[in-house]
Amino acid sequence: MEAVVEFHGFKDNENRFVIKELAVVSDLFQWQLVFAPPYSKCRLNSKMQRTARWLTRHFHRIDWDDGVIPYNEHLIRTLCKTFPVIYTKGLEKATFLKQFHPDVREIDCTTSCNDNDCDIGCVLPQHSDVNSKCALRNALLYKSSLDLKNSVSTS
Ligand SMILES: [Zn+2]
Repeated sequence: MEAVVEFHGFKDNENRFVIKELAVVSDLFQWQLVFAPPYSKCRLNSKMQRTARWLTRHFHRIDWDDGVIPYNEHLIRTLCKTFPVIYTKGLEKATFLKQFHPDVREIDCTTSCNDNDCDIGCVLPQHSDVNSKCALRNALLYKSSLDLKNSVSTS
């Protein structure tokens, strides 16, 4: 059984992802975690602080200080390793996730990821708008496009 992993977050001073909202969606269950920041935003250099502000205001709307679950890469690894294969969208995210899982595949979801009118139950209130950039919503969309592709290729 495979899972789709999608996340939104920030970049640290080394241009590495800092995950904030993590979504793991499989056939049987889904997880959504919103991590607390791994350290104070003050530790980011001015360029990365500007980038973080832009992401909060104009992209995913998640604040650096949102989230209550302590940032825990071991937990991320444990969740990913539940599945033999994980899919994600985009080469950069796939490369990043390879530190948590040996078999990360890129999902090809260029077909219109539409049909996002349902309330997906994100824990972040700023993601209740269907046009918001929500990792959980994305993961559900990618998962359904993956299922569609699998059903086409096996029929
Ligand atoms: Zn969300």
